Amino acid sequence: MAHVQGADQYWNPVLETLPIEKLLELQLLKFKRIVQWAYDNSKFHRRLYRDAGLEPCDIRTWEDVAKVPKVEKAMMREIQRKDPFPYGDMLCVPLEQVTEFHQTSGTTGQAVYQPDTWQDWEWWSESWSYIMYAQGFRDTDRIFIPFGYNIFVAFWAGHYAGEKMGCEVVPGGVLDTEARILKMQELKATGLMATPTYVLGMADKARAMGIDPAQDLCISKILCAGEPGASIPATKRRIEGAWGAKVYDHVGATEIGAWGYECTAQPGGLHVNEALFLVELEDMDTGELITEPGKRGKLVMTAFDRQAQPCIRFDSKDVAEWADKPCPCGRSFRWIKGGVVGRADDITKVKGVLLAPSAIEEVVRSFPELSDEFEVEVAKKGDLDDITLRVELLPEDAGNRESVEARLVDQLRLKTNLRYNIEFFDYGTLPRHTLKAERFKDLRAKH
Ligand SMILES: [Zn+2]
Repeated sequence: MAHVQGADQYWNPVLETLPIEKLLELQLLKFKRIVQWAYDNSKFHRRLYRDAGLEPCDIRTWEDVAKVPKVEKAMMREIQRKDPFPYGDMLCVPLEQVTEFHQTSGTTGQAVYQPDTWQDWEWWSESWSYIMYAQGFRDTDRIFIPFGYNIFVAFWAGHYAGEKMGCEVVPGGVLDTEARILKMQELKATGLMATPTYVLGMADKARAMGIDPAQDLCISKILCAGEPGASIPATKRRIEGAWGAKVYDHVGATEIGAWGYECTAQPGGLHVNEALFLVELEDMDTGELITEPGKRGKLVMTAFDRQAQPCIRFDSKDVAEWADKPCPCGRSFRWIKGGVVGRADDITKVKGVLLAPSAIEEVVRSFPELSDEFEVEVAKKGDLDDITLRVELLPEDAGNRESVEARLVDQLRLKTNLRYNIEFFDYGTLPRHTLKAERFKDLRAKH
């Protein structure tokens, strides 16, 4: 789709093009307001701020914002499962005002509960409307969501935002992949939302059924979330090629909200919704704020308007860097180059070198001879770290194994400065994933 110019490309034309100084003024105002709200209504926040010697009225400038203590996931785990059950001291509203329950996946430890009020839920839909509108979704779209909604927030808010914007939303939850593909074809669905892993898997399945997603289906745009794939150029190209559709990334988290999105200009990164969120970038070693482009740091997030369980200076552990130029779409919201490149926890040191799993994905997906699936395993061999990459050769390239291996080892060394053992598998034998793929395994003892 061509990039549309004009005010009708923005969900909120006023806020999305607000001059930067006005935006900063608004952010400071909203930051003070949410800190005051949390201080007045939650014991957890009152304790946190008092222990730091801080009262909400002390926050006057941006320097003061940086003094507000950060909140980590571990702190939330500690206070939950207690009164008022199950949310504990962080809850800012009477329990009866909570209308939505979700939780984190718990892949990094005990799950964190997330209560929302009806007003918070409306805020979720609003934040998703910014995303979907920026990606070209309109009231003329019929959106298919091939996802079994459950206790995770994933795609729930996308569903409601679709309705709020006047789109027609088809919940494809309990159907299996084959039935979902047939339903999309039958209804001539124009939009799709899923994880990049599943979108690629669906294309594979469709082809096996004799349906070419690019030719035989009407999907023109795909919103990807849950994994960084749609911001990794080689993965994006694969999905766009398979579906004959535009693919856009979105990023968010249960505890924070839907804070980042790609627009139709596809600048090579994600806008931060600066009207609804404060996103700070922090140096991982020194803790200093990073404002200049090109320097990677960890994102610290605040949701200005979420009330039941506020998110104020939450240490997201997501790693990113600011872009060096404005986006051609005309939004004044800043954008992060290349999306979220990984989590501070995942970016491990292997043989003393920092390794982001997304760098491996970029290399693997740039090889047309390989399937979409792969696995990485880091283990100890004696005193040394040993990395194994498992890939699948497509049947028609089975004879090219040696040449693929040599080029793969070369490319990986170039992009990640590390040497890999490559293991080839027959096409279709590595595990297939419907949700987030766990492709990176670290078998070294943790210290
Ligand atoms: Zn843009």
